Amino acid sequence: MTKVAETVLEVDLGALRHNYEFLRSTLRPGTKFIAVVKAFAYGHDSRIIAPFLEKLGVDYFAVAYTSEGIELREAGVRTPIMVLHPQHVHFNSIIDSQLEPCIYSRRVLSLFLETARSRNLKTYPVHLKFNTGLNRLGFEEKEVAALVYQLGQQQHIRAASLFSHLAASEDLNEEAFTRNQIELFKTMAAAFEKQAGYKPLLHQCNTSGILCYPDAHFDMVRSGIGLYGYGNDETKDKLLRRVGTLKTIISQIHHLEKGESLGYNRGYIAEHSTVTATLPLGHADGIGRQYGKGKAFVNINGKKAPIIGNVCMDMLMVDITGIDCQEGDEVIVYGGFPTAEEFAATAGTISYELITGISRRVKRIYTE
Ligand SMILES: *Cc1c(COP(=O)(O)O)cnc(C)c1O
Repeated sequence: MTKVAETVLEVDLGALRHNYEFLRSTLRPGTKFIAVVKAFAYGHDSRIIAPFLEKLGVDYFAVAYTSEGIELREAGVRTPIMVLHPQHVHFNSIIDSQLEPCIYSRRVLSLFLETARSRNLKTYPVHLKFNTGLNRLGFEEKEVAALVYQLGQQQHIRAASLFSHLAASEDLNEEAFTRNQIELFKTMAAAFEKQAGYKPLLHQCNTSGILCYPDAHFDMVRSGIGLYGYGNDETKDKLLRRVGTLKTIISQIHHLEKGESLGYNRGYIAEHSTVTATLPLGHADGIGRQYGKGKAFVNINGKKAPIIGNVCMDMLMVDITGIDCQEGDEVIVYGGFPTAEEFAATAGTISYELITGISRRVKRIYTE
């Protein structure tokens, strides 16, 4: 690990490789791996992460929006890319960049078919999303027959895969609910296959699904958070390595007397003499105000330094009373101790929100 001289997100590609290989090792041979690289590869920069994973042999990429897929193509990615949540204004761009839309309703199907017809496409691959209980996107069970009929009337597009998404795969208290989702997915897929007369690839598991429901891996799995080192559970986390470490430095140290205040709106008032450090990192970098006022802490020379007062746009202040440190010293915000999961939990959120929120102005540094 290098000593840093500014705020950086250190990205350990060796850890990414480890996580990919570990997750792969939990699959039956032949099960395909979809690497989810939406949201800038969960903040790690998809333009670096996707080409690296492509060399390791992932079968598919998934992004949320069309613009994210285009960015991957511009970075030279040749592997198939599914767009999980496309909007119809982008259907021409999807086709221009050879991206594969996920289609989740009759409305979206009709709109994509219109574009496919006007472009005279032949058997263009699309992915059909089934709603099995998340109630966010997807065809209902009662729509499958009409869906197969509509697809059967044309040759412009074909269903490359059928998929669904689990609502609580990390929560074993909800196992009965998850098992229901899996059974409903099987029923819907079987109805589709029977009426359509062919078998698209099936997939339902995200990272926690991969780890908790090995019998539901089907033909492909979709992993995002696991690749970046978080498994939604402490025992699973031990098998993975943290890919991103957010580091910064101490810009300045202040000594407050009892009664003096710190920062905007005098968000902290010293109850006794207090030593504080100002760090070049704020809510515009992705560390929101919810972490201030004593909620989260950073790691300075192995010691906990709580974030005090209000987080500013480009700075935050921590209490370093009793910690042996100096201006210019390195600070670990998350990635080792604390982990992103621990840091996020202090403010009642999850690693996903924290790591995808690190803004693009934070420099990314890659090591292997
Ligand atoms: C984001 C997303 C995933 C990845 O989930 P992880 O929990 O990060 O592995 C998988 N499938 C769909 C449909 C998603 O939206």
